[in-house]
Amino acid sequence: MIRERIRIVVRGAVQGVGFRPFVFRLATELQLEGWVLNSVQGVFIEGEGPRDSLNRFLLRLEKEKPPRAAIQSFESSFLDPVNYTGFEIRQSQESGGKTALILPDIATCADCVSEIFDPADRRFRYPFTNCTNCGPRFTIIEALPYDRTNTSMKKFQMCADCEREYHDPRDRRFHAQPNACPRCGPQLQLWDSAGQTIASKEDALRQVVESVRAGKIIALKGLGGFQLIVDAANEKSVLQLRERKHREEKPFAVMTPSLATAHDHCRISELDERLLLSPESPIVLLARKSNARLAPSVAPGNPNLGVVLPYTPLHHLLLHGLGIPVVATSGNLSDEPICIDEQDALERLHRIADVFLVHDRAIVRHMDDSIARIIAGREIVTRRARGYAPLPVQLTQPVPSILALGAHLKNTVALSVGQNVFVSQHIGDLETEQAYTAFVRSAADLPQLYEARIDAVACDMHPDYLSTKHAVQFSVPIRAVQHHWAHILSCMAENELTPPLLGVSWDGTGYGGDGTIWGGEFLRGDVNGFSRGGHLRQFRLPGGEAAVKEPRRSAIGLLYEIFGDQLWSLDHLLGAFDRSELSLIRQMLEKGVNAPLTSSAGRLFDAVAGLIGLRLRASFEGQAAMELEFAAHDRVDDKYSFTLHQESPLVIDWQPAILEIIDDLRAGKTPGMISAKFHNMLAEMIIAVARKIGQEKVVLSGGCFQNRLLTERTIDRLTAENFRPYWHQRIPPNDGGISLGQVVAATMSENPKRAEI
Ligand code: ZN
Ligand code: ZN
Ligand code: FE
Repeated sequence: MIRERIRIVVRGAVQGVGFRPFVFRLATELQLEGWVLNSVQGVFIEGEGPRDSLNRFLLRLEKEKPPRAAIQSFESSFLDPVNYTGFEIRQSQESGGKTALILPDIATCADCVSEIFDPADRRFRYPFTNCTNCGPRFTIIEALPYDRTNTSMKKFQMCADCEREYHDPRDRRFHAQPNACPRCGPQLQLWDSAGQTIASKEDALRQVVESVRAGKIIALKGLGGFQLIVDAANEKSVLQLRERKHREEKPFAVMTPSLATAHDHCRISELDERLLLSPESPIVLLARKSNARLAPSVAPGNPNLGVVLPYTPLHHLLLHGLGIPVVATSGNLSDEPICIDEQDALERLHRIADVFLVHDRAIVRHMDDSIARIIAGREIVTRRARGYAPLPVQLTQPVPSILALGAHLKNTVALSVGQNVFVSQHIGDLETEQAYTAFVRSAADLPQLYEARIDAVACDMHPDYLSTKHAVQFSVPIRAVQHHWAHILSCMAENELTPPLLGVSWDGTGYGGDGTIWGGEFLRGDVNGFSRGGHLRQFRLPGGEAAVKEPRRSAIGLLYEIFGDQLWSLDHLLGAFDRSELSLIRQMLEKGVNAPLTSSAGRLFDAVAGLIGLRLRASFEGQAAMELEFAAHDRVDDKYSFTLHQESPLVIDWQPAILEIIDDLRAGKTPGMISAKFHNMLAEMIIAVARKIGQEKVVLSGGCFQNRLLTERTIDRLTAENFRPYWHQRIPPNDGGISLGQVVAATMSENPKRAEI
């Protein structure tokens, strides 16, 4: 049995309520070894034992906690064991880590939920009910310290009853900064799309319920921004939302009234359930049941469904009134950041939403819903925002203050203060003016909140990224960090790994530093940085960026790399293009103009999806790869072949596989079979390189490792071959993790002025 270590940080009302003795008893019962301790930053717990016992520990800690304990945040990471003996309650830590932490927004607690449904309670049906254990935090804070006068609640004068609760140490609302009630707090209004008030308070809520039932699209001002809400069973309305929002096929998340209704639609494991009910309350990607009665357009062609439970009193009241699941998606046009104020929402969403449910509590910073799922029996956050941001990742030692500006897609920024790295909430793709503005604001926000004097700025090496260009605004040294190395460093940081190791960094696109596009990289990491140990064989992408939207372009680029000019006579491989398109593509490939070379694994996925006709054009990044993953048959052990060219760096050649796929296509093999063999081969490629490089630790990062099949297969195979695989947990494997990696890179050299790979 492999022994692992789990670290859990619990924040909330867990001090002085018998929490530590409870942890001790539970750990001892489960025969775990480790310790528990109180610190100014919360209760820290470490336990060692077999994975199953650690999972039981994780689940029971929350379920069986002492009655007076209230958990506001619960983050866990699996780490290498350090061989503790026995379990102990350690001496409280008074010193160290004095940095004030800003808590994330916390899902409504059970006590508050029961109050809003209790006709005898003074907060009956009040949509802005909260207490010390739940409610808005990061989305209302303007400055530290966290006092009401520093939040967007400052304009609401507490009534005598609220004031009394706020000052009573025995009350659940003692020092609850956003404390409010129907008499003194924020109120609802319902507006039409011209901004005229139609209804207010209870009446607004009642009319919204009717509107959803009537198939209308609602813009709802939520916790961290506007959401668009529509009846998830009404195909016509869901389609209308897609059309108006310009979001063709990217799956929508669904909010269900309760856990029970979520069970009607999805298969939910114990770990999934923990995530759904956690104070972080993310959207959880679940396996959808075949009899789920939802509109087909909610998540077309997708065997998974993103599900979130109500996490504010407003959502509880709305979903309770409806009793049916709704689509709950961010209030924006595709690729734009979420709207946070009424005027902006009216301007940008008036063509999308029929009515606007708004309130008078200002949202200080935008916050999307987070997305998490279980991969290889462990939680992994793929979009980190509400509920998680801005809790820090702790480094093993203090570092200078670095502001990292992230990448281009799924941008986040990060700031190091002492030992903590604060990673911002998900900002988005910096493709639009609005997204860029949100990025600039976030890059100013973190240093201001933590009153940090920045020692250096870190950014991507890509000279054309807006985030890179922004770096020159700061009059401090700039450190440009290679994209794929940043991926690996982010994964190392959250797993507390030290080199030497092998980093497998697979994604769609990243600037290589040698003028080509990287993305299928094997990086040797040592104390000085990295070297490129190997990469997937390169091929040309005709049309460059256009290839991201058209997997068929990746396919033809790959075929041209194999067949050269002979390709133009192989008609059976050219069916995805008409004659005029072909002649253009041919020119690009033959002349190497507007056809950059890439070693991208993401584009290899695209190429295979295109080649087998699964998807020729994609409506969002990663769609083809996702569909290839979903198509794969279980329980296929067959795999395609590849070759390893003994060069330095190693070149991993997919050519044999592509020729075998063409044969399989001719033999009428299904996409399911082809996809399974392809995935199995990718895992073997990683094994083959790992053997050559000869490092025990293998770190998996980059957007490709959001692919559950690839990730689980690779972990299984690496473990079977006696390597130690590491993958992401609290930080996304996609470009949302780049800023953390950039911070770490910038601290690695004595001289941050030296821009290097
Ligand atoms: Zn509460
Ligand atoms: Zn009040
Ligand atoms: Fe990337």
